Amino acid sequence: MLTRHLYCRGTVTRSLFVRSKKKYGNQDMSHPSSDLAAFREIFSKAKHVAILTGAGVSAESGVPTFRGAGGFWRKWEAQQLATPEAFSRNPSRVWEFYHYRREVMLTKTPNPAHLAIAECQERLGKQGRVVTLVTQNIDELHRRAGSKDVLELHGSLFKTRCMSCGHESANHKSPICAALKGKGAPDPNTDDAKIPVNYLPRCEEADCRGLLRPAVVWFGENLDSDILRRVEEELNSCDLCLVVGTSSIVYPAAMFAPQVAARGVPVAEFNMEHTPATMQFQFHFHGPCATTLPAALAPHQFETK
Ligand SMILES: [Zn+2]
Repeated sequence: MLTRHLYCRGTVTRSLFVRSKKKYGNQDMSHPSSDLAAFREIFSKAKHVAILTGAGVSAESGVPTFRGAGGFWRKWEAQQLATPEAFSRNPSRVWEFYHYRREVMLTKTPNPAHLAIAECQERLGKQGRVVTLVTQNIDELHRRAGSKDVLELHGSLFKTRCMSCGHESANHKSPICAALKGKGAPDPNTDDAKIPVNYLPRCEEADCRGLLRPAVVWFGENLDSDILRRVEEELNSCDLCLVVGTSSIVYPAAMFAPQVAARGVPVAEFNMEHTPATMQFQFHFHGPCATTLPAALAPHQFETK
């Protein structure tokens, strides 16, 4: 079982990084190329492209990450609230936090990176080619941009799961329940709403009324094994891999991209940061992915129309 770990930049998945570093220790570590034309030629011939996306893609739509400096909701960072323990201790507070995040998402829209991926999926699909999208983001911006069949490693802000019967369903209600209306303000001086548990979101399955929770993978919880199996299959069969908006030493790209590179498959990283793990990859395109990705994924002259 693969468990989502508490992580901060720099401490994350350090064991994975060390393991992959060792694996590549004997290889020639030349710098990755930023030759867009060379990438585009490979892209024009790829039959099965896997795209991994992370927080950097959403950040460019103004989605708060609740990590690092200024990343607090009231007094807490996301990893203090996004745990099963926090929810069982104080479901009202955790629901306020997620309600706030859901409501914020209603004011955000997909950016050119989301749109370029969705357009590329549709276009290549018509050419009989496959573009698989794997994301750690829970904001559904890829879906809203038009991407189909998104493999959401961490679930979605807009899904709920019943604590009693386990039923999972899509939920885009605003507010998600009457008691949460107007709650969830992020200001550190805001008092907890202390909503009685019976007034928090409840299951609508017949005779259940169980407490609902956000269907996201919290820290310390296992990732969905069906999704992981599909991701593994895709990564084992892709002939080009893009890592977008997530640094290659940070989970999840740290888990997946090096294994693709180890098969000799070209991996292209689109990120604001350059990391030691970047050296394992054939390409690195530096800068905001809303700028770099549309040019990389635009129709190529050699594509069959
Ligand atoms: Zn239920």
